[in-house]
Amino acid sequence: MANKKIALVSGGNKGIGFEIVRGLLQAGCRVYLGAREAAKGQQAVAELAAEGDVRFLELDLANQATLDAAAAHLQREEGHLDILVNNAGINAPGDGSPSTATVRSVEQVLQTNFVGTLAATQAFLPLVKQAAAGRIVNVSSPLGSLTVVSQNDWSLLGYSASKAALNMLTVQLAYELRDTAIKVNSAAPGYTATDLNGFDGTDTPTQGAAEAIRLALLPADGPTGTMSSSTGPLPW
Ligand code: NDP
Repeated sequence: MANKKIALVSGGNKGIGFEIVRGLLQAGCRVYLGAREAAKGQQAVAELAAEGDVRFLELDLANQATLDAAAAHLQREEGHLDILVNNAGINAPGDGSPSTATVRSVEQVLQTNFVGTLAATQAFLPLVKQAAAGRIVNVSSPLGSLTVVSQNDWSLLGYSASKAALNMLTVQLAYELRDTAIKVNSAAPGYTATDLNGFDGTDTPTQGAAEAIRLALLPADGPTGTMSSSTGPLPW
């Protein structure tokens, strides 16, 4: 039997990340569920244990020591990482239109969603390079698309800027890795009912997770350096 693919999902303890973990378990992967709080991560692992081989890994985008320790653990236990899903993210209170968003909220959301995700990507990339055909999925948003935002009345400057920056990471990393088998793509969930929006979203977390799962399991002829939602490609 082929070896299980090894996957890591950040922010896996709830919301869309929890359903990405479930989907990858159902696809037969061994999934490391990253969470910044051990109690929440272990609780989520207990809830998903019946679905497959799921293990807790402490992972806080704001704490480099947890990223380094998680990478060292994976190196020891697995020696490679087939799938990295950068799902963890926030929506900071105080964000808003360019004239009203507080500078502090914009700093916070950029720090977590872009700088923190970059730190995680750099920590785990050496492991992804050791996989036969690595997949990196950045969970972005239609709010990170300059094209989509310019056509809608959506003014969350910090959040949109953080996801647009994350898309830049997708494009530049895909280019940097263009001569390898690694594929790097952005998945854009629809408006999903999670803590992030006070459960106001219209899609279920299962629906929100679907495109990230698809991109995590892309075949060899799949795309790299793209953004898509479950209804198809999205413009930058
Ligand atoms: P949730 O708030 O339900 O989940 C966010 C997850 O990220 C939680 O596990 C949270 O951990 C974790 N997290 C936050 N900050 C950090 C950090 N510094 N280090 C590690 N983990 C962290 O939101 P969603 O499930 O909705 O969001 C998941 C992703 O989907 C995000 O990137 C979001 O931007 C994106 N997205 C969401 C949409 C929506 O409509 N909901 C639409 C488009 C994109 P904890 O439980 O400890 O807070």
